[in-house]
Amino acid sequence: MGSRLSFEVKAKDIGARVGLLEIGGKKIETPALMPVVNPRREVLSPRELREEFNVSAVMTNAYILLRDEELRGEVLDKGVHGLLGFDGVVATDSGSFQLMQYGNVLTSNKEIIGFQNKIGSDIGSFLDIPSMPDAFKARAEEQLDLTLERAKEARGVADFIVNAGIQGSSYLDLRARAAKEIGEDFRLCAVGGIVGIMEDYRFSDLVDIIATVKKNIPLDRVVHAFGLGHPMVFSLAAALGCDLFDSAAYALYARDGRYLTAMGTLHLDNLSYLPCCCPVCSRYGLELKELEGDEKVRELARHNLYVSFEELARVKQAIHEGSLWNLLSVRLRSHPLLLSALQSLSEHGEWLSTLDRITGKSSFYHLGPEAEHRTEVINVRERLKRVDSKRTIKMPPFGDVPVELSSIYPFVSYMAPDSVGREEVYAQVRDIDRLRAMMDYQFGSGAGSLIPERVRIKNSRRTGRMRWVYLDGELFASLRASDNWIIPKEKMALSLREKFPYPLLRVSVDDEAKPFVEEGKSVFCKFVLEIDDNLRCMDEVLVVDKDDNLIRVGTLHLSPREVMDYNKGMAVRVR
Ligand SMILES: [Zn+2]
Repeated sequence: MGSRLSFEVKAKDIGARVGLLEIGGKKIETPALMPVVNPRREVLSPRELREEFNVSAVMTNAYILLRDEELRGEVLDKGVHGLLGFDGVVATDSGSFQLMQYGNVLTSNKEIIGFQNKIGSDIGSFLDIPSMPDAFKARAEEQLDLTLERAKEARGVADFIVNAGIQGSSYLDLRARAAKEIGEDFRLCAVGGIVGIMEDYRFSDLVDIIATVKKNIPLDRVVHAFGLGHPMVFSLAAALGCDLFDSAAYALYARDGRYLTAMGTLHLDNLSYLPCCCPVCSRYGLELKELEGDEKVRELARHNLYVSFEELARVKQAIHEGSLWNLLSVRLRSHPLLLSALQSLSEHGEWLSTLDRITGKSSFYHLGPEAEHRTEVINVRERLKRVDSKRTIKMPPFGDVPVELSSIYPFVSYMAPDSVGREEVYAQVRDIDRLRAMMDYQFGSGAGSLIPERVRIKNSRRTGRMRWVYLDGELFASLRASDNWIIPKEKMALSLREKFPYPLLRVSVDDEAKPFVEEGKSVFCKFVLEIDDNLRCMDEVLVVDKDDNLIRVGTLHLSPREVMDYNKGMAVRVR
């Protein structure tokens, strides 16, 4: 019933993912920003948004369309896509926001759902009840109960993908309960009631709320951060696993003369320089201040969107290359209260680190004391416990790092204010000792013992680094150039299977998938029977059948919990 939703992860970093979301055949690359269009007084038309910013989804308010007699007739006649002149994804809101602002709305849950069915929304909402932050708990609970009841009512009657609101004010136990119930029934979950928290710069609470929701829903659910439209928080919200943002801010702020930047909000009137070179700022310069009325609002709104989409692209690029923490470290320093989010991030660090990837191509920048809380640091420290070495180098925040590991990610690309002389140390270590330590680090204590003294190591002529490892004339392993990670060949994989009991290092697949994996095809999530929880995204894994026979070796594409939660998409890229 209704339109179909599919979601596939293309790249990930921390809890963030670049994904392909398909709704009824229309594609959105996530994280995505849906500009909010007010049909009564649009600042920029959806067509302009498409042409200028290539937006694939917009959001509008079904409640306004329902209550405005003129618009109602028109939208019932043409459909919401026809009314807006936009053939991409149209998401509609139910009036919940008005409910919070004015205390009541003149519609019912059934009516607003039926109306969204009629106008052809791709994504729609039931009439959830946002509670104010710090509302009386009994009141927030009552509102949540009613929200959950309305969610049940929406099930099966909505012809659209339901953007299911998860409420509960600032009470994390209520948020957890809401997330469990909503996450079970709906594929698109919206963290609602967070605009007030954002406006008060309560970023630490924001982190707690989003993290609580994410911990209590299956990880394949698409998550919409409702009303989160400020580019300053995109990297933070994406890192926690939010996929969709909507922004009314670009237009609302423009009406107030507020000029968005990725580091915060400025007032246009106070500016002696414009710190931006978007087409608007380049064209007008400071004359932007002299514009009047609608023209000023419109041009300022365009600038606000340029910086929003620019930041979103920056976030996606960072996810691709695994450098989201570098970006986050800079962004969190834009405001003292943003820096307070770090405390909460560290409290959720254990959980968040299970979602993060273990290796990557980017550099590791040690940018200050907050690096202690980075999820990659938590993961690396855990792995360092596996390696025994007498010679170490101090690499804060990782601590004492065995010299043997200096050529692998993240140590190879480690940069700190006092980084010096690591190449020299590198030259003093025997290749075979390095290889053994790397085996322990990557696969577990004792894996290094699988490298006998008689192996033959061939180095790259260009970099001088290890590239191939032969055992008894057979290729035993190769080393990936980008991060020096060990890629086991069949013989090594068999030794690893021998050394580490099931389910360690394993992804087991059912018999249906076995012939495809044997041919070298990827392992898809839905065929995975079991996975070792200690693995991390980007680890090399043994793909085995249900009787633990080795089928292939491959790279884990997601985190273990994601593999179990997802029904669609790749789990292991097989070599
Ligand atoms: Zn600009």
